[in-house]
Amino acid sequence: MSVLQIKIYGEEILRRESKPVANIDGDFVKFLEDMNQTMLAAKGLGLAANQVGRTLRAFTIDLTQFDVLSEPRIIINPEIAEMNGDIITSEEGCLSFPGLYQMIERPRKVTIKSINLDGNEYYFEAEGLIARVVLHEIDHLNGTLFIDKLTPAQRNLIRSKLKKIKAGERV
Ligand code: ZN
Repeated sequence: MSVLQIKIYGEEILRRESKPVANIDGDFVKFLEDMNQTMLAAKGLGLAANQVGRTLRAFTIDLTQFDVLSEPRIIINPEIAEMNGDIITSEEGCLSFPGLYQMIERPRKVTIKSINLDGNEYYFEAEGLIARVVLHEIDHLNGTLFIDKLTPAQRNLIRSKLKKIKAGERV
């Protein structure tokens, strides 16, 4: 397993729409293991494939530090089947924006359709922090970043921070 380089805000691949995973082969499984390793090394809660250079619809999440999930999870070809519940505003960060944390609105609860490593479909319901991380990662697969959720005024306030991040600094 190897730790991959995480793409930082400003890199074009973060704005690209990712393609569904067609073949779950050995190469892809190895890539997922590397993604997982990279997320753990960076102490992130989630990591999308395009954040480490591949425009595939897959991401990993790790919420074990909050005792929310017992082990890291891999999500492949996710689709939002249902979104319900209230909107919750909470602090969010992103491995592609080192040091930046912003208050972001997200639905409290979502139902996701995904496939497992055998290619079989399954549904899962996510609530609270899991829903937040899952929706953040699905946004990545569509080329959307968490700063896109900010109002123009909020975004204006972090302009200099974004410049620094683009220049490779931590804010
Ligand atoms: Zn992110």
